[in-house]
Amino acid sequence: MSFSDNIKDLGEGLSHLLYPRLCEGCSKPLLAEEEVLCLNCNVFSLPRTAYHHIAENETFMRFAGRVPVVRATSFAYFTAEGLLQHLLHQLKYNDKKEVGTYLGKQLGYDLQQLNWHKGIDYIIPVPLHPEKEAQRGYNQTQLIAEGMGDVLQLQVIKDLLYRTRHTESQTQKTREERINNMSGAFAVKNTTPYEGKHFLLIDDVLTTGATLEACANALLTILNVSISIATVGVAN
Ligand SMILES: [Zn+2]
Repeated sequence: MSFSDNIKDLGEGLSHLLYPRLCEGCSKPLLAEEEVLCLNCNVFSLPRTAYHHIAENETFMRFAGRVPVVRATSFAYFTAEGLLQHLLHQLKYNDKKEVGTYLGKQLGYDLQQLNWHKGIDYIIPVPLHPEKEAQRGYNQTQLIAEGMGDVLQLQVIKDLLYRTRHTESQTQKTREERINNMSGAFAVKNTTPYEGKHFLLIDDVLTTGATLEACANALLTILNVSISIATVGVAN
């Protein structure tokens, strides 16, 4: 270790003393090995679904009969005022990029234990419209996908699936209206290397599934592909 590395370490140590990193759940200082959440908040305040243990779970059933999906799962329940809602808010609106990678890793660890990702070739995050991504500076779902990719040793592909147009806000719409609103909002390009592959499509929160359904339909135009889906949150 060089003198400058020592100085850098010392600097980081001092900055942690002066500005301790705090848990996003309980605001207590994090231990050196903790990221984003303390162990206690990770274990007790993120209500995990354990859906990956069940083939026909709630997330899978939202797509059944609508779009052919091999497997589908969600990491934790998304509830109003819950910790997951707070984390996703920090990720989307407060520039806390590390929250995305962190959540992706947590989901990745759960899937890895069950070898749930067996047979999957690539991870694909739901794309943002380029204007929106430029505004925010990043695509939050891309960060989640990268965290998962690190843990599962899978490549994240971001130039295959893209958004063809801006879509209106979905929040005031019924399920049917959302599906119509999203229909044709995504397309694929340079598809030849991806024929016959199995994609894991990723989103932050699953609500009606209209966005994921539109993405899956775009990917299914590629010859002989199969689709699985994973989201960090699932809302009722
Ligand atoms: Zn905590």
